[in-house]
Amino acid sequence: MKQYMDAIVKPEAGPGLELRQVPVPVPKAGEVLIKIHKTAICGSDVHIYQWNDWAAQHVKPGMTIGHEYVGEIAALGDGVTGFRVGQRVSGEGHITCGHCRNCHNGDIQWCKDTQGVGVDRNGAFAEYLCIPASNVIMIDESLPEEVVSFFDAFGNATHTALMWNLVGEDVLITGAGPIGIMAAGICKYAGARRVVITDLNDYRLDLARKMGVDAAVNTGREDLNAVMKELHIIEGFDVGLEMSGNGHAFNQMLGVMRTGGKISLLGLGDKPIHVDMNYIIGKGLTLQGIYGRKMDNWHQMSYMVQGGLDMSPIITHRFHYTDFQKGFDAMISGMSGKVVLDWSK
Ligand code: NAD
Ligand code: ZN
Repeated sequence: MKQYMDAIVKPEAGPGLELRQVPVPVPKAGEVLIKIHKTAICGSDVHIYQWNDWAAQHVKPGMTIGHEYVGEIAALGDGVTGFRVGQRVSGEGHITCGHCRNCHNGDIQWCKDTQGVGVDRNGAFAEYLCIPASNVIMIDESLPEEVVSFFDAFGNATHTALMWNLVGEDVLITGAGPIGIMAAGICKYAGARRVVITDLNDYRLDLARKMGVDAAVNTGREDLNAVMKELHIIEGFDVGLEMSGNGHAFNQMLGVMRTGGKISLLGLGDKPIHVDMNYIIGKGLTLQGIYGRKMDNWHQMSYMVQGGLDMSPIITHRFHYTDFQKGFDAMISGMSGKVVLDWSK
């Protein structure tokens, strides 16, 4: 085993990232060393690249970033059982305490002491990554590696979408970012009647059409109510998935929900959002905040892909990791879906 490896590191407090040689991590007792095959760039990696307030509060310069990946087990720390070297894996990016009330209850996404891979500790944009064995997810060889590389984000979409019954329901998704588009695919697969997605970015709305939405609406210039009428959505949307983090989008959603409708909220904005409580109260809406993924979402994703859900149209760019700057440029342009980096030498 070599001692040094390539890694994409935040070099100092400020914008930018750097490809550097760093030590290969050594798995301690209970840990697994993963050789990375492919990674995908998340919106939060872009925030770390750009060094916004959130990134400045969490990320220590000198750290390797990245948390969306697929690879194979390279070594097992002492005491790790149930895995073998060479096995294909990914990993849950939230490393949790294991003994708080939510961890005990199986709601690891709400752990009080969660640590983010590639945020609070070294991440996956490297040749090797070390994580606790309890975070390692076995990945069946039948699954396409490129798609598995962004299972972490697909998991956010799964968690948000599968919060409610979708069979025969009309769903509004606000925000056609990669996660909103993946959620659209999940809703169609899960049996929704109509899936309508909104954005202000035509490139992304086109990408959403490839995922089979019934309507992709640019609310900057199109009338959502007219689209609803065309689709025979008479009483409003049954289910809303907020995936933009934008206050206008959320208020628009509240206005077009059916009385008794259900909303899950994933989008994180950089500003507080003002809402008209009359909609929530008068319509008896149920709102659920979504953070991260549930461990079961990893299984649901594998089974949905094996059952025929094709997530590959969301991949718009592929680069070798040495060209990571091109990948970040594509993400920052807004003209991208998922950007996948290949770590083969
Ligand atoms: P993204 O930023 O790529 O997508 C957001 C989309 O919303 C963009 O395409 C943008 O053009 C669109 N948008 C902006 N204003 C809009 C408006 N008024 N109406 C409709 N659309 C509008 O983000 P993503 O990677 O797809 O993630 C989706 C959201 O989920 C982001 O806000 C992200 O921060 C958040 N997120 C939350 C969690 C969590 O655990 N809660 C995890 C991952 C991502
Ligand atoms: Zn915990």
